[in-house]
Amino acid sequence: LFVEAPLGANGRVVIEEGQAHYLLHVMRAKPGDRISLFNGRDGEWLAEVKETAKRTCTVECTVRIEPQSEVPDLWLVFAPVKKTPADYLTQKATELGVRVLQPVLTRRTIVTRVNTERMCANAVEAAEQSGRVTVPEIREPLSFDKLLAAWPAERRILFCDEGGDCLPIAEALRQAPAAPWAVFTGPEGGFDPAERAALRALPHVTPVSLGGRILRADTAALAALAVWQSVCGD
Ligand code: SAM
Repeated sequence: LFVEAPLGANGRVVIEEGQAHYLLHVMRAKPGDRISLFNGRDGEWLAEVKETAKRTCTVECTVRIEPQSEVPDLWLVFAPVKKTPADYLTQKATELGVRVLQPVLTRRTIVTRVNTERMCANAVEAAEQSGRVTVPEIREPLSFDKLLAAWPAERRILFCDEGGDCLPIAEALRQAPAAPWAVFTGPEGGFDPAERAALRALPHVTPVSLGGRILRADTAALAALAVWQSVCGD
């Protein structure tokens, strides 16, 4: 279970709200039961249920069962799409080991609002079920121009470009210099010509193909992450 509180030997944590509901009414936790906790900083801890109340569950950490570890340094920059809320993409990207999810609003993006709170909740749930001891950082949406203007120079962009004339993704990754990466995917209608040109003009951008078919935006993002993990991941 993910908690915000610090974790350490004999430390008590009061679990509230949705997680307390899950423990009390789904898992039917009672004093003496054991659960595991992580907070993204202190590793994974075994904890014993000490007290249960109507809406809270108090547990006490006993022993650390996993040291803190990091997922590979991979970001996903994606243009949200209207038909599929970002929930599914957030869950799957979390399972695939992404460290940062950054929604980007491009010229052809139709969505006007991204529910980052719900994305956070999905990321926590997926981190819990996939055995990560970290939760990816969910960033607030940024416009394409603002994002590129503030882009960290050391991070390479893996630009998923369905427009052809680029290397297949695995080959491009094998040839590229070692660097932290960000996968970039576009919205329903793809990046517009000016955005494509702007991306391709940057020195730290590698345009890549995901094959001869046009993939749905979320399929493209997940396919690119899976290939990155198999070529560069842990
Ligand atoms: N109209 C569909 C939809 O609504 O999901 C297709 C969207 S596709 C244009 C969205 C993004 O997926 C593109 O901007 C690109 O980043 C990525 N993409 C899709 N197919 C790809 C391919 N074969 N190679 C590289 N990138 C691809």
